[in-house]
Amino acid sequence: MAGRPVNVTVLGAGVIGLTTAMLLSRDKRFNITIIAKHMPGDYDIEYASPWAGANYLPVGQHGTLLAKLERESWPELSRLAREVPEAAIHFQDTVVYRREKDSQQTGPVSTWMKSLVENDPWYAGVVPDFRLLKSHELPPGHESGMAFTSVCINTALYLPWLMGQCLKHGATVKRGIVKHVSDAAHLHASGSKADVVINCTGLSSKTLGGVKDMELYPGRGQIILVRNESNLMVTTSGTDDGDDEATYIMQRAAGGGTILGGCLQANNSDSNPDPNLATRILKRSLAVCPALIADSAPGAGVEAISIVRHGVGLRPMRKSGPRVDKERIGKTWVVHSYGHGGYGYQSSYGSAYMVAGLVDEILEGRAGVGVERAR
Ligand code: FAD
Repeated sequence: MAGRPVNVTVLGAGVIGLTTAMLLSRDKRFNITIIAKHMPGDYDIEYASPWAGANYLPVGQHGTLLAKLERESWPELSRLAREVPEAAIHFQDTVVYRREKDSQQTGPVSTWMKSLVENDPWYAGVVPDFRLLKSHELPPGHESGMAFTSVCINTALYLPWLMGQCLKHGATVKRGIVKHVSDAAHLHASGSKADVVINCTGLSSKTLGGVKDMELYPGRGQIILVRNESNLMVTTSGTDDGDDEATYIMQRAAGGGTILGGCLQANNSDSNPDPNLATRILKRSLAVCPALIADSAPGAGVEAISIVRHGVGLRPMRKSGPRVDKERIGKTWVVHSYGHGGYGYQSSYGSAYMVAGLVDEILEGRAGVGVERAR
């Protein structure tokens, strides 16, 4: 490959594919083509990224790959919040409220929140201003909690910003649908076969030829985008409405509105918002965050919340956590980066750095540590 650029096809234009493509496209060694069925601007049940809140609330258990990816993502997300206003990421005061009874539960939401709500979590040393809340700062029904500074990303602006960065650094972007992951190598814009394919197809890696990862499953999330401002990010350890229902609130940067959530419904792919769940989300949100209507209609009920739209997205959940590794399939080197569940934004930079390292290993011939198998 010496003497010519290394041709890389990035398959997928969600937050994982675009962050990876942006990072690689800044490196002059690479000639990047992005191929995807869905692009920023699309809203589709097969495309998770636009539906995310999105914020940084680390949920990876200490010592896991996910925790490492989350830890490594914070510096760049916070730098963007500080220095790059057009990326539409801002800092927000953040609180997590805990109920003792949720710590005994093993349902989807309690499991999801387990690390986040620990008394002395690993991320206390990562995010600024971490402290435990005092009892007078807690809403009714909660015994403890923590506060820190985190970031919230306006995904409607951030995904196009990522794409713009890729274009600025010379990447080519094409719509395309592949049936087998190796086929992406033949769609490189140079007309030559790509040296490496980066597989960032999210949940679709469950059905994509050459991958068919049966560890993947959809984790349905329902959200409401509202005009009201919370000026605070709020998350609770659980709800009384079922073990797959959650309460979280985050105000997006740059007029992006406030996201109210939600749920984590395993193996449910229904793209239609459930109106009863939407009512529960509104009621729970107002109970823990009266600030939503404090200025416009103090003391009023959920009717004072001004709804922009309801939405449903499918988190690409994977039983053993995200997959970031390399594999030779037939004659094609593939680096996989998928299965980022409900944490794709907060682990996006860590994942992209890891992919870049794996691409270097391939180029340096350190191929032995990867898996090899026939197409
Ligand atoms: P996707 O965004 O699904 O992108 C997959 C890409 O691959 C698409 O471009 C698709 O078209 C393409 N593709 C797939 N198959 C093919 C094919 N065969 N041929 C061509 N192209 C193909 N994360 C956070 O960090 N913080 C949050 O606050 C947060 N909140 C969330 C709230 C909700 C309601 C939901 C649903 C998710 C949330 N997430 C959050 C999780 C986050 O959205 C996902 O982890 C992330 O979007 C996954 O990105 P991805 O790029 O892997 O997949």
